[in-house]
This record gives sequence, C-alpha cells and structure tokens, in this order.
Amino acid sequence: MDEEADKKPNRRIPWWAFAVIGVIAVLTLSQFVRGGSGGGAEEVSLRTFALEVQAGQAERLIVEGDQLTLERADGSKIESRKEESTSALETLQQLGVTQEALQKIEIEIEKEGSGFGATLAVVLGIAPILFFVVIGFVIFRQMRNSGGGLLNIGKSKARLTGVNGVKPSVVFDDVAGIEEAKLELQEVVEFLKTPEKFARLGAHVPKGVLLVGPPGTGKTLLARAAAGESGVPFFSISGSEFVELFVGAGASRVRDLFEKAKAASPAIIFIDEIDAVGRRRGVGLGGGNDEREQTLNQILVEMDGFENETNVIVVAATNRADVLDPALLRPGRFDRTVMVDPPDVAGREAILRVHARGKVLSPDADLSAIAKLTAGLAGADLENLLNEAGILAARTGASAIGSKELNAAFERIVAGPERTSRVLSAGERRIVAYHEAGHALVMESMPNTDPVHKISIISRGKALGYTISLPETERVLRSKETFEEEIAGLLGGRAAEELNCGGITTGAANDLERATALARAMVTQYGMSDELGLRTFTSNTNGFPDWTQRQEYAEGTALKIDEQISGILERAYERAKATLTERWDAVARLAGGLLEQETLERPEITRLLDGGASADIPCLEESAA
Ligand code: ADP
Ligand code: MG
Ligand code: ZN
Repeated sequence: MDEEADKKPNRRIPWWAFAVIGVIAVLTLSQFVRGGSGGGAEEVSLRTFALEVQAGQAERLIVEGDQLTLERADGSKIESRKEESTSALETLQQLGVTQEALQKIEIEIEKEGSGFGATLAVVLGIAPILFFVVIGFVIFRQMRNSGGGLLNIGKSKARLTGVNGVKPSVVFDDVAGIEEAKLELQEVVEFLKTPEKFARLGAHVPKGVLLVGPPGTGKTLLARAAAGESGVPFFSISGSEFVELFVGAGASRVRDLFEKAKAASPAIIFIDEIDAVGRRRGVGLGGGNDEREQTLNQILVEMDGFENETNVIVVAATNRADVLDPALLRPGRFDRTVMVDPPDVAGREAILRVHARGKVLSPDADLSAIAKLTAGLAGADLENLLNEAGILAARTGASAIGSKELNAAFERIVAGPERTSRVLSAGERRIVAYHEAGHALVMESMPNTDPVHKISIISRGKALGYTISLPETERVLRSKETFEEEIAGLLGGRAAEELNCGGITTGAANDLERATALARAMVTQYGMSDELGLRTFTSNTNGFPDWTQRQEYAEGTALKIDEQISGILERAYERAKATLTERWDAVARLAGGLLEQETLERPEITRLLDGGASADIPCLEESAA
C-alpha cells in the first residue's frame, strides 16, 4: 500500500509515429508495385530506339538524365537508357541517327531528378533512415517516460515525501505496541527539527538507525510515520530497487540518492528491506553478488562521508539482521539497532484499538480478550484480523462487528478458512477427534504447558482439526521442561491415534515436523542435551546455501546429534502415551464431545476433563459404519 506511488508515465506511442510509419510503408511498397517508370512506356533497346527516331515517326524526345523517352504522334511511348558518359544526341548519332532526323523532332532535355518519379526516388532513399530515426525516437521517449530510462539508470528511484506541509497519511499515533522503536524514531525526528538542542550539549545524533524485526511488525509503517511527522524531506527506497540488470547501476543510484538528500538536508533517507543489498560480503556464489557488494560499498562510503553537520539520517529496515554485513553495523553507520518485536498483550490491544478506529464495533466486542488470544501475532496480522471480522460481519448482514466475528476471524487467521467442502468418512472423523483430544489431554496434563482454549475437528486450511492453547502470561524464557512438555503435547495426537485403535495415519505429519524442529533446537542451539553439553551446533550459512562453508563439527558428532534428537522425541512420545493411557476415559469424553459438537470451548473442555460418563467408541463398530 504505497501511497506515494510514482506518477503513471505516459507510455502511449504518439499517433503521428503511426502516421509516419504508415506513409513510409506505403511508399516502400509502391516502389515494388511501380515496376518500370513512365506509366505505360515500352522499354526497348537503344538500337530500336535509334531506329525509331531515324524513322521520323516520333514527335518528341525527352531526355531525363540517362533516361530517353520517345513520344509518338499517337501518344504511345517507348523508352530506353543510354550510357552515362555520353550525351543523348551523341549516342543517337553514333547509332546512325542523322542530323535531319534529329532536326525534325522536338527535343526536351529535363533536369535530372525532377518530377514526381525523382521525388519519390529521393523519399524512398531516405525512407529506411527516417524509419529508424522515428523508431529510435519513440523508444527513447518511452524509456524516458517510464522513469527508468537508459539515461536515468544511475538515478535513484527514491520517492520523496514529507515536504511542504502536506497532511501526512501516517502519523506516530497510528503506530502502537512498539513503543521503544517509536521513541527512537521520534528522537530522530526531534533532532532534525531542532538540531541545536543536541549540538548545545555536544551530542551528535546517530547517522543511521536500523529497525530489525519479523515481518509485519510495523517497521515500514514506523518509517512512514516518521516521514509524516518530521516535516523534512524524506527519501524512501527499497533495497531491491538498487539491484538491477545493469552493472554499476546500484552504486550510482546510492550516490545519487545521498547527493539529493544532502542537497535537501535536513533530510531522512529510508532504505526498506536493506538485506537485499546489505548481505554479508564475500559469501555465497553467483553473479549477482558483485553488483550487490558494489552497492553496499557505496552505501558505506556515503555514510562515512557525512560530515557531522550534515543533517541527514539514514533509517533502514530489515527482518534479516543476521545476514547483514558487519560493516553496516559498525558505529558511525547504523550505530543504533532498534528491535521491533512482535507486540505483547498490551501492545496488541493498542494495535487493535488503532485499527478499530474506522470500524463499527458492537459493545460486546472485547478487544482485550482478542489481544490475549493472539500471542505471537504481529501488527499486520492484527490489522488483518479486524478486517476479516469486518468482512464476516458484512457477509452475515450484522450491523456491527461483535465478539462472534472477532473470534471467527481469529480462527481463520490462525488456522486458515474453514473447509466445509472437505468431507470425512465417519471413521476418519473419529480418528481426527481422538487425535485432537490426545493433543488437548497431554497439554492439559503437563505442569508447564498452556491451558487449552479450544479444540475443533472442523477442517481449516491444511489441518483436519486443531487445538489452540493459550498462555496465561507472556513468556520470555523457556525452560527445558517446557520444551519437553510442548513436544509431548505435539506428539499427543499421534499417541492417541495409536492407543485408539492401534492405527496411525498421516494426520500427524505437521505435528512431527514441529516436534522435530523443537528437539533439534534444544540440542543444537540451547545446549539442552546432557550428552553434547553446552556447545552449539548451528552452521551459520547466512540464510543461503554456501558450498564453501564447512560443517563445524565432526561426522561422529552429527550422528550423536541425531541420536539425541531421536531420544528427546522418543521420551516425549512415551510420556504422552503414558499420560493418555492413565486418563483414557477423559480422552474418550473429549473425543465424544468433539464428534457431537465439532468444537469445544474452554468451559466445555474443563467439564469433560473433570468427569462424567465416559463412552469410548469401539473401533470396529465405528469403522464398519
Ligand atoms: P514490516 O515493514 O515490519 O514488515 P509493515 O510496517 O509493512 O510491516 O506493517 C504492515 C501493516 O500492518 C501496516 O501498514 C499496519 O497497518 C499494520 N501494522 C503493523 N504493525 C503495526 C503497529 N505496531 N501498529 C499499528 N499497525 C501496525
Ligand atoms: Mg516492511
Ligand atoms: Zn495434530
């Protein structure tokens, strides 16, 4: 949603270009159609021509360059060509035409190259040249209009905003939940507005601020807010716009961008997605690299070149700080790194309130409840959630967005849209119900895992069913126990399938993937395996495959890592199975409830867990149905 989109260039080919090309085409064609010149004249040999002249039948002899035309009394014509070097009369005389014969005839010598035929010849001669000139001109115009023409290759495409007091489209009030980052940028804006305040104390404000955070957390939004409120020229460009087909374009674009900004100082330069150019230099293979390095080098050079009194601040954003070149992060360049983390519960509520502004909410819409539900979601997801809720409300003809719509939208975002078209057989439905009940029961039984908020066997997206657990408080640190319990919870689905009727299905594929990833992280990143100790075993490849990078541990260690991972998974699986066996009656109650109601909410879940009649559905009977 870029409001400062480029002005649409006029790419139409002008009408007159078509006209010119048309005329040229007609003329070129006519050259072939015309055949011999002199409409209807008979072409004869020079000798025959001479004989005819001598015979005295002719009225007029027309000489036009080397072209000889004889007009008879009856109006018919013959023509011939003479040699270039000799004159027409000489030629005729040499061929035996006498003085007397020539005196009887009218002789017209016409200037060579006159008349329509000659004009045509000239036009046809220059036509191809004209053709290319016109084509060239049209292409040139188009390229110039498109803004990225050959001549403009080295010019930056940065969009300029924030001048002349135009009402800003985004202000700091539109950004919520990322207060630290907001303060940082507000300070930058402050500095540009009143540099004296800082200079008085001898402080100089950072040259570069790097916003780092996962996608959708509001980095671009923050920069746009800064643009809106700074009141100084704001040049924004995306990292990928530096990198182009033409070698050297990136570097000269950087130069151009910084030149413009310096001329307009005080100013802000915003480079979005800087990882596109700012990747660590000298790693990876492939031709694109050199070009990128040139561009990056140029950015570094330009940032070094800022004198302290140049009031230009570079703000950059990325979600891949790990791949950035260390030189970028050195003091004097992007010397401030601001983490833009996914918002906490208060932040999420604030973001929801920002986006609820233009929407009609009914009194029962509880945004703080939704904020609690949405741990891990970023600002963009929350905006999307409210929008989905609005769409759902409109679809059902509701007058306002209520809690029903909000909850439905939440599930849609977390698990994908409902798949009403997916029809499961009775047997499959039962397997899914037991699978989800297994997840839920294991999660509920573990001391450290989050309570289960909702279980459903309605297909959504790829999932046949889902179990949503909710943290009661936001966690920052996670213990080894939490990891182990979480893995057990993930494997609870598969364990229930096995215990149910002894059959296992493909339904657990995604669970297994996630469990394996967690176990791997425990071993290789967090030093949580007893055998391998505190070492980490990640091979840092900067996000892309790098053939020159060596695995940083021995082959034997790789084997051990695999063993450890398998061990963690096996123990968790056994634990899940033990838990389920112990409380199989509760599993059966949950599964029964799911088959009946398809979706169970928290109160219902607690009731079913606590007791009541257990009716385990016999395997054979059900699958026969
Ligand atoms: P990023 O650049 O970090 O990937 P964006 O800034 O493009 O994310 O965020 C996309 C959209 O999500 C924004 O336009 C805004 O509507 C919404 N959004 C994201 N974070 C926030 C936030 N902290 N406060 C308000 N809205 C947000
Ligand atoms: Mg962005
Ligand atoms: Zn599962």
